[in-house]
Amino acid sequence: MRIPFLASRILEALTKQPPHRYNNFCLFGVIPMLINVQELLSRQQPIEREGTFELKDLFRDSRDTTPLGPLSFRLTANAAGERRIGVTGELTADLRLLCSRCLDPIDHHFEVEFEEMFQVMKDTDPEPGEDDDFIPVYGERLELRPFLEEELVLNLPLAPLCREDCKGLCSECGTSLNEKTCGCGTEKIDPRLAALQDWFKPE
Ligand SMILES: [Zn+2]
Ligand SMILES: [Zn+2]
Repeated sequence: MRIPFLASRILEALTKQPPHRYNNFCLFGVIPMLINVQELLSRQQPIEREGTFELKDLFRDSRDTTPLGPLSFRLTANAAGERRIGVTGELTADLRLLCSRCLDPIDHHFEVEFEEMFQVMKDTDPEPGEDDDFIPVYGERLELRPFLEEELVLNLPLAPLCREDCKGLCSECGTSLNEKTCGCGTEKIDPRLAALQDWFKPE
């Protein structure tokens, strides 16, 4: 996501801050987490980024993940050589997940380490391949938000559980077996054996 040039100029004028200082400023709902790559690389001084952004859009289409608040981040960007930028830090978020067995809500506080290496690309550079250990950056600015969102999503459990021994729902009547037993399936027989049972049934 790139902030249009005009919007960034307006932002700069309104905040009377150079671009690397307005990351907490919100305009038209956009909270940029921008790193001015040329500035960072030429000054070779770390840039700190700290702030929050909403997660509603990210999980808009998700039925089993609901954000309970914004994502908070604290990051440091360091020049690592002539064209490389290392970004490290931490992000935190509170999310409501659904237990994959019983569908009960689980509120979880996520604390995720963030560490990425970026490389500012030149026109003459070949397209980066799978073996490259960096993320390519094109243009003047590095927008960190998509990478933070991705890191959070990668850290979500594939099959969250409300507790290790969650018994889940009865597949026949839907009763939560953590709360009570329903009596379904006590005489359940493997369908492959059911045919045999008929066979042996007394006439
Ligand atoms: Zn459960
Ligand atoms: Zn049941």
